[in-house]
Amino acid sequence: MPGSMYPSPSRHIGVVEDLYRFIDDVEADVAVALAITHFTVELELEGPVPIVALRQCLSLIINATDLVLLLPLDTPPHLLDNEFLPKLELFKTNLPHGDLLPFLRLHPHLSALCLHSCRRRTDERVCPLRAINLSGVLTMECPAGCAPGATRRQLIRLAVDDRPSVDSIPQALRSFGAPSLLYLSMDFFPDDYDILREIASVAPCLRKLTLLEKHRNTRRQSHSRHAWNDVVRWSGWLLKLEYLEELALRTAAEVVRRPAIISSEKAALLQWISGTQRQAKHRPQHPTLTSIRVWYRCRDANHGVITNWSRYTGTWENTLLLRNPLPTTLF
Ligand SMILES: [Zn+2]
Repeated sequence: MPGSMYPSPSRHIGVVEDLYRFIDDVEADVAVALAITHFTVELELEGPVPIVALRQCLSLIINATDLVLLLPLDTPPHLLDNEFLPKLELFKTNLPHGDLLPFLRLHPHLSALCLHSCRRRTDERVCPLRAINLSGVLTMECPAGCAPGATRRQLIRLAVDDRPSVDSIPQALRSFGAPSLLYLSMDFFPDDYDILREIASVAPCLRKLTLLEKHRNTRRQSHSRHAWNDVVRWSGWLLKLEYLEELALRTAAEVVRRPAIISSEKAALLQWISGTQRQAKHRPQHPTLTSIRVWYRCRDANHGVITNWSRYTGTWENTLLLRNPLPTTLF
């Protein structure tokens, strides 16, 4: 590549012209293609993608380990058929799940898979992905209703499916089943009152759990009720997750009456762990839980608080209090 001693291991295609520029660079020096390990194509908002050029690029990057393909909605369904990247480990795309089957079958060694919405046909009740074996995938991010059952995956991010027919996250969890799962991050709705019970029954060995409460009008008419403020049941189910070390929860609701006040937070969060004061006297401490992180809303406007509580010293202590985090803050 002109001006640099070694060709870059990564390439980002942000406009259609970048595809042709890459092909030209490779024609000038084949080492440009051989050096690529990370290849990202983000053309979602572009017009029709020149499929021949895109396929040519894919055929050149034979050493790619990470491939991101975010393409316009009208991308032809057979784009990836017969494409093979022998070293591919991570694949992220917004292509419809049904269009990925041949490609995924050719890449059983994939360890990380990140998929956007399903976009299956209206006559397909079940996601086509559920028919293929993805047991080699260790890290998966996909809509809850699409996750295929497997026992080897260790980290799963389940997002809410965009299909209105999938209205129950617990139902999707039940059909998914991964008893050896260690890390789970998932969306849920304010009226998924039994979410923790469902998780405990599906993935009892969890070490880290992140729950992201979605904004949505609840189907049941109780705006103040949430899974986590029914402390009797919430704390009981938390105990059933007997290996859980870290719990994180993001909600747009008010978790405490006096936000960002340590004593107020402590009282609320201890109830999550031990139930009501009367229960706490008879109930054992959670055997493994050492960290609770919560992102909650304050009463005033859209402000919020991220708080982290830890028990590394034996007693629960606040270790982080962040007021008004940016919406893009990692959680
Ligand atoms: Zn799907």
